[in-house]
Amino acid sequence: MLRHLEQQLAERDAQSLRRHRRIAETACAPRQTITTYDSTHDGMPRELLAFCSNDYLGLANHPLLIEALAEGARLYGVGSGASHLISGHSRAHASLEDDLADMLSPHGPELRALTFCTGYMANLALLTALGDAQTTIYSDLLNHASLIDGARLAKATVYTYPHNDLAGLERRIAACSTLRKLIVTDGVFSMDGDLAHLPELLALAERHDAYLVVDDAHGFGVLGAQGRGVLSHVGLRSERLICMGTLGKAAGVAGAFVAAHRTIIDWLVQSARAYIYTTAQPPAVAHAVRASLRLIRCDEGEQRRRHLAELVTAFRRGVPEVLGDLLSTRGWQLAASQTAIQPLIVGSSEDALAMSAALESQGVWVPAIRPPTVPSGSARLRITLSAAHGLGDVERLLSALKSAGKDME
Ligand SMILES: *Cc1c(COP(=O)(O)O)cnc(C)c1O
Repeated sequence: MLRHLEQQLAERDAQSLRRHRRIAETACAPRQTITTYDSTHDGMPRELLAFCSNDYLGLANHPLLIEALAEGARLYGVGSGASHLISGHSRAHASLEDDLADMLSPHGPELRALTFCTGYMANLALLTALGDAQTTIYSDLLNHASLIDGARLAKATVYTYPHNDLAGLERRIAACSTLRKLIVTDGVFSMDGDLAHLPELLALAERHDAYLVVDDAHGFGVLGAQGRGVLSHVGLRSERLICMGTLGKAAGVAGAFVAAHRTIIDWLVQSARAYIYTTAQPPAVAHAVRASLRLIRCDEGEQRRRHLAELVTAFRRGVPEVLGDLLSTRGWQLAASQTAIQPLIVGSSEDALAMSAALESQGVWVPAIRPPTVPSGSARLRITLSAAHGLGDVERLLSALKSAGKDME
């Protein structure tokens, strides 16, 4: 066993696919002190300007949320002590569910929310509870790993359709032989930043009596009025919509939710194993998330969203200026994304790693994302912007990209 694993690890090294963790010595913020132990680092802490978190609104280190978490701990202690169905379901969880239902209610008349410890578990819970043997799950090829794993674990028949291929999807759905159909998609695709074609997907679901699961991990808090997310952004509401969102990205804390018709939520409570058989999230965390939702919905949230949009615009305007030649000669591509996820697709894992290392040597931290997280031949720098960045930070990123790019020529 050990020899086999050592061989596998060596192979990953040889293919530039070995992953290394870094240690953040400080809070999630644009400037972080980082320690890395690997063959190219000396293990000394360094300050880096980071463009890698999903903390899109810069709330992960917000003083009000730090205080809310401490207050939650004073009110409820630090652990929930049990699963939701035994004794771990606290007032804080119940109130958070009400807050989420209230915030997202434009989706439908009878919307309810259910909270989970993580988004990964929410997707596992949702797809295994709804995806029984009489159901077909239709899943976009670029969906997040948690949706893929949820579909794998479900008893349903699973069909993966090419990214955003609505015509192909409709042909398959029209020929569906199971009783129930579930279309599953990221709302904002996590490695590309583009949006699913949600109005068309919902129309398709309606034509074929299917339900539509939208994973809004990267839209909730950032898109739509009051940060209600991608469904509000595109103006959709329907009983057929099942919205999943995460609370550790733009919301800056931890956890996730599913918001859907009351009957679907009732069923999840009865049958979703990833909900039932796990200790409930600490109530203090739910308490902090409630404070985060208030921030997201108020003026401050609005200002943060506006500032983030300005950073996205400045970055997209700057990239062709600093990388012009490489975009044409090497075929590098800035993904067509209007969101805070701004991937620069460079193709090979080696180029992605070399760029990431060259940026790091200038004190800028951008992760190289490689297969299997993305399809082979599409390795990329996944640059994410946050409202906690300033325009000066984006300028520093652009000039670091320029000189890193020069090294590649
Ligand atoms: C991050 C993410 C998840 C998982 O959420 P966690 O709370 O981090 O477990 C699910 N779906 C998508 C699209 C994500 O980006």
